Amino acid sequence: MSIAALLIGLALLILTIPFVAGPIINERREKKFLTDEPEEEEMQTRYQQILLALRDLDFDHQLGVVSDEDYPVLRAQLLAEAAQARTAVELDTAEKETLDAQIEAAILARRSPAAKTAAADDLTCRHCGEPLDAGDKFCAICGAQTADFCPQCDRRIDPDDKFCAGCGLNLTMAVSQEVAA
Ligand SMILES: [Zn+2]
Ligand SMILES: [Zn+2]
Repeated sequence: MSIAALLIGLALLILTIPFVAGPIINERREKKFLTDEPEEEEMQTRYQQILLALRDLDFDHQLGVVSDEDYPVLRAQLLAEAAQARTAVELDTAEKETLDAQIEAAILARRSPAAKTAAADDLTCRHCGEPLDAGDKFCAICGAQTADFCPQCDRRIDPDDKFCAGCGLNLTMAVSQEVAA
């Protein structure tokens, strides 16, 4: 009698195992399934955060909190991160277009100061018109001086400069002295 009871009990126990273990296995499966999801969700959140950071950066730059020097560097960093997050996230077309436009704008912004410097360095001899390299002090063709240089530190100076940006020499004095001598 007691053995029969034990057997019944054992049978019941065996029968209940799948019911007890089942939810645990299912939960594990669900958890594994869930860990795949948040990763993408995380990237999406990250992406949104980067876009917000970009907006903040623009704002700070407009306010002068972020300097002109730091701004393109920080912006490029954020855009690189955004692009990285973007590849991990399924975005709708509008969002992709916004990001593409921002990346393009950043590239243009980074290019234009360089383009300006290039234009400034795109010198021609003021005597014969021959193209000059940025560092040339004298024209290789006619030997004319290519620009004005500080008599003290040799830095290139503009004709309207009153002081040398390199050494602080008073150029009006230097020029008048040169003329006098
Ligand atoms: Zn020349
Ligand atoms: Zn100087």
